[in-house]
Amino acid sequence: MLAAAALALAGALFTGCAENVDSFIEYSLSDELYVDGQRISSYEYAELAADVGDLIAETEALFDAEAEGSDVFRINAAAAGEAVTVDARTYALLSLCKQLYAETDGAFTPALYDLSELWGFTPAYEGRYSDPRPQPSAEAVAEALTHSDFSGVTLGAGNTVTKADGETKIDLGGVAKGYMTDLVSALIEERYAGHTVEYSAEVMSNLILAGGKHDSGSVRGYNIGITDPRAATTGTAQGLYLTSVRDAAISTSSDAYRFYVYEGNIYSHIIDPHTGAPSQNGVISVTVCVPLSAEYAGARADAYSTAGFCMPLTDALAFYARLAEEYGVTAVVITQDFCYYTVGSGTVLNRKEYADYIGSPLTVENVYTFAEISSASDTVARCEQEEAYIAYIAGLH
Ligand code: AMP
Ligand code: MG
Repeated sequence: MLAAAALALAGALFTGCAENVDSFIEYSLSDELYVDGQRISSYEYAELAADVGDLIAETEALFDAEAEGSDVFRINAAAAGEAVTVDARTYALLSLCKQLYAETDGAFTPALYDLSELWGFTPAYEGRYSDPRPQPSAEAVAEALTHSDFSGVTLGAGNTVTKADGETKIDLGGVAKGYMTDLVSALIEERYAGHTVEYSAEVMSNLILAGGKHDSGSVRGYNIGITDPRAATTGTAQGLYLTSVRDAAISTSSDAYRFYVYEGNIYSHIIDPHTGAPSQNGVISVTVCVPLSAEYAGARADAYSTAGFCMPLTDALAFYARLAEEYGVTAVVITQDFCYYTVGSGTVLNRKEYADYIGSPLTVENVYTFAEISSASDTVARCEQEEAYIAYIAGLH
């Protein structure tokens, strides 16, 4: 399960890039790829891009829960105590998930497939995600929760995975795309070992930016637009911006992807493992930027942005503050009162500030209002614009 693109390289977008929109996973590798400061030839780029495409397809085939024979499919089909041997990349990702599960106090957990299915967010519901529907019964949710314990999944010698509960099902949708950017990065770094290589790549809302942006001889940081999660009613493409970003992985999670409105509430694809229901913490978008100095920066950014939906707001902000200390993470959290919070040392600009920064002559309005972390509360009231958005979406279906 994958998020739609919620990040954009602002300014010069990927002008030339390899893309694969036929596959389920959309990705791009910019052709502005520099080795020791020299842009590689289009021939060399084409070869590399083809290898990246193969890598994405290969890993997609490992992680796709619906594809018969995939690693995740086989884990999900396994009985209690049955050891399933998986590819080293799946094993490495699951090992990382163990860390992320611990680090987020279980807010990030890849063992929620049953609940995603119950709420109608698995691919079987393609085309019907936005249909208004009543909640599943409390009994069904409670029953699914009893089988959703990731601590019952054990990683053993020889890349084996064993479940304590045969009913437990894995879903790597919250971390796989970020992890794919790490694998793309590893492939490129290996190919140009011993050289300084600069590139940018994206796998559905997960960006990896190695080095800076080359611009007529000078190299500067990237400016990244955060997609406005309420674009449907604000008409604004980008709500906020991260500027001067380099050597970082960035991921955005939002409630504007795979969601429906029922009786005035938004139900979206991120499930809070504490309740077994779609997250209701008042957060509508989280963007996390992790320096590439952190191991698996891409997978981390992906998992951390998902996790921020499954904690009370003040806990989420405190969690990002810890990550800022530990890894130098920057986080941008947008809430349903149309405020935004920033954590960490990265530069986050509102729309007007960004227009000034780039010297744009256009008049722009801010959509979201900066809020101090000290003013955050776990009860986030919906503002009028949010009510208008919900009513608009409800009217569409
Ligand atoms: P993302 O778009 O990266 O935030 O990931 C959301 C996807 O991760 C969902 O569509 C599910 O496939 C999966 N997911 C849902 N809830 C969680 C959770 N609490 N922890 C980890 N993955 C989740
Ligand atoms: Mg994620």
